Parts: sequence; C-alpha cells; structure tokens
Amino acid sequence: MTSSSNTLFKKSGRVRHPEKAHRSQSEKSKRPKWLRVKLTNNSNLETTRQIVREHELHTVCEEAVCPNLSECWSKRHATFLIMGDICTRACSFCNVSTGRPLPLNHTEPERIAHAVYKLSLRHTVITSVDRDDLDDGGAQHFAKVIQAIRNQYHQVDSQQNAPTIEVLTPDFLRKDAALETLLAAEPEVFNHNLETVPGLYPSIRPGARYFHSLRLLQRAKEINPRVFTKSGLMLGLGETRVELLQVMDDLRSAGVDFLTMGQYLQPTLHHAPIKRFVPPEEFDSLKQVALAKGFLQVASSPFTRSSYHADEDFEKLRVARSAQSRAN
Ligand code: SF4
Repeated sequence: MTSSSNTLFKKSGRVRHPEKAHRSQSEKSKRPKWLRVKLTNNSNLETTRQIVREHELHTVCEEAVCPNLSECWSKRHATFLIMGDICTRACSFCNVSTGRPLPLNHTEPERIAHAVYKLSLRHTVITSVDRDDLDDGGAQHFAKVIQAIRNQYHQVDSQQNAPTIEVLTPDFLRKDAALETLLAAEPEVFNHNLETVPGLYPSIRPGARYFHSLRLLQRAKEINPRVFTKSGLMLGLGETRVELLQVMDDLRSAGVDFLTMGQYLQPTLHHAPIKRFVPPEEFDSLKQVALAKGFLQVASSPFTRSSYHADEDFEKLRVARSAQSRAN
C-alpha cells in the first residue's frame, strides 16, 4: 500500500502553503511499485517525536513530507530545520510555507543542542528555511547552532563523543561574507542543493541562480579545503540525461565531493508536477556515471534525500577521502 509518512505526525490547524493555493492543480500521478513506502514503527520513532516536540523544534522530515520519516525517526535520526518554518522564497517543489518569517529565536541553538544530545546522534544534519530578510541570511545563527552542539558535549560529555555536523544551507544570495561566517564554525560537511538542472530554475527555483549556487559550493572548498562539500538533485522534474551529466561536470569542476540524487515527489497537486518516475536501474546507472566523473561518494535511488542515511554516508566519505589521499 502506498502511504504518506506525514500522516503519522500531521500538524493541525495551519494553512500549509497559501502562496501555492492559486496555482492550477496537476493530475495525480499513480506511484510505481518501487515508490511504495514501507512504514517502520518502533519505540524509537515515538521517542524521536517526543524529543522534537519537547524542544519545540521544526524538522525538514515533517515540513518536506519526507517519505523516509518513519524509517529515519525509528533510528532516532531527524534533520532539524532552523530559523522557523516560514521561508522567504517560493520554490515550486517545496512544501514549506512562504511569507514573512518571525524574528530569530535565540534559545534555538541550545534547544537543538539538547535534542541532538538526547537523540545520541553521531552525525547531525542542520538545515534552514531561506532568510533573505536577514542581513547575513542566517549564517551567524547556523554558526551558533554548531557551537551550541559542541558546547553541549564539552559540558556534559566528552568532546570525542560530539557528533559530526553537516549543514544544508540556503544559497546566501546577495549576502556577502555569510559563507565565511558559517564556515568559521567548522562544520564537517557543507551541503547546498542545486536541486535541478539550470534550464528548470525559472519554474522550479525562481528565486535562485544556478551559477551562484555552484559558485557557493566552489567557494566553500576554497575557504576551507578540509570541509566535505555535498549537493543534491531531484529527478523526474523534466530534466534530460544530457542536462544531468552537464550538472555533474559542473559540480566536479566546483570540487564537490558528494552527490545525492532522488525522485521528486509532489507534496500537493498545487506543486510542480512529476514529469517522470525514474526507475531504480536508471538511478544505478547515473550513480556509476557520477562515480566515474570523480565524486568521492554518490547516493542515488528513488528514496534518496540529502539527509537520508547521512551518518553512514559520512563514514563512507571519510574512508573514500583517506583512500584517495593514500593513492595520491
Ligand atoms: S531522509 Fe532526511 S528529511 Fe527525510 S526523514 Fe530522513 S532525515 Fe528526515
């Protein structure tokens, strides 16, 4: 049975995306059998939910209606969405509400840190809404969250047990020095998703610029050559294979280490339509091509998302870099 994991923890009483309400509805596509979600349920899932709620946090798992929620939360792995749940952009694939965000909450870094500690995360992924309203796009707030997680372990545990930290950031368009501010906090992984091929930006990421996003990833490596860089693509939006291969080349030219590719799933019928369900074999084939192009790590499957299995993939990334260093 096809099921949507967001029904598990649906938030009530909120109009989710009024900015998309006037878009025409597309036809509902029937999911192929390889996209049927198997729900996992164990006591960890409820524990994760409680910890998220107790600390009054947002997660992209819920906001994005992620199909992997039950699996990830059953392993106590959640990806935190910081700086609120209202975004200043209106990307046509995204389920987060658009509007004027609330001021930053200065207790959020500590609340995230406590939750990370309670979940015993080995690797934590922190992402955010776009905050074009802030002078630094929220870079300082990201840095405070990273610092708070490390302080938490310094105070109550051992620094050695502190999790590695991955940030999945907005593009910081027209936010000079934001990237430097964020990277000064030394996250282990800097992730920024290109999301799709440049020809689809006007309809899918209208507020973003492809070459700006690419340059952001390249600059991250220039500022800190030790940081792992990562980017992700959604497939099935109408991109061609040739366009995808060009994006892979662009990412390699920008020195990106890790590429994720997953099937785009339409959050509601008012969002960008699914043009195609990409079969698992095609994801496998694209993975082989991407590895041949020189990525250290590639995750490619219908259910792949930026933060899916991020902890295990981070270990593989470290191993791949060590092997590469030994070989050179
Ligand atoms: S894949 Fe990422 S966003 Fe989806 S449930 Fe897992 S941690 Fe959350």
